[in-house]
Amino acid sequence: MSTPNGASRASLPSAEGSTAAPSTHLDPALVHRWIAEMDRRLRASEARLTELDAAIGDADHGANMTRGARAALSAIGDQEGASAARLVSAVGHALSRSVGGASGPLYGTWFTALGRSLPPDAPAAPGDLAQALVAALDAVQQLGAAEVGDKTMVDALAPASRRATDAAGSGADLAGMLRLAVGAAEDGALATVPLQARRGRASYLGARSIGHQDPGATSAAIVLDALRTAAGA
Ligand code: ADP
Ligand code: MG
Repeated sequence: MSTPNGASRASLPSAEGSTAAPSTHLDPALVHRWIAEMDRRLRASEARLTELDAAIGDADHGANMTRGARAALSAIGDQEGASAARLVSAVGHALSRSVGGASGPLYGTWFTALGRSLPPDAPAAPGDLAQALVAALDAVQQLGAAEVGDKTMVDALAPASRRATDAAGSGADLAGMLRLAVGAAEDGALATVPLQARRGRASYLGARSIGHQDPGATSAAIVLDALRTAAGA
């Protein structure tokens, strides 16, 4: 490691960022990378989320999500030594506090329930994370009463949780599980286009909500894809 010409680095591929091995567990460092990546991705997607919400809502979803991500990032910034579970819960509290509208309490609840369901003091293995994703989805559905097909974030979160559970059950590693879960979330978000909204502000439009992708399902796929990226998957 002290070799000045860098030759030793070639034999230590996992020591370098670009060649780092994918994460095997959800640990505190991965949560920090996840939320930083989520903040970047939501800012990059802000205009698109605004546009989607302008079509079937009130055009604030981009602003809501970027405000929430910024608050989440600063909430965990000074939490040195906190477990992954605690950091994820802190993200949930920050979102609930800082974001208005429907999505603030819903994402706040999702992250809070996710954190509560992770192993309290140890890094989460794929099966632990899959279970926590299911618990977080349940909490969102208890709060918002949306079912799959109602054209909400549940249309992305539910298939992702199911796919993660199946993957973990068949022995997938974290990276493989996250790739499958993100694929399911993205397919679920796309599948909201032909649906008529039955929950949230878009439901006021009735049949006029048909033909537009749901903003919350779109942001949910982004939130999960940020975790996939952060995990190096
Ligand atoms: P608001 O609708 O209050 O303006 P946002 O625009 O930030 O809040 O978020 C809208 C998104 O919230 C929708 O696209 C949908 O995915 C999600 N949403 C709304 N109501 C519900 C609900 N009852 N359950 C789950 N998700 C919901
Ligand atoms: Mg809105």
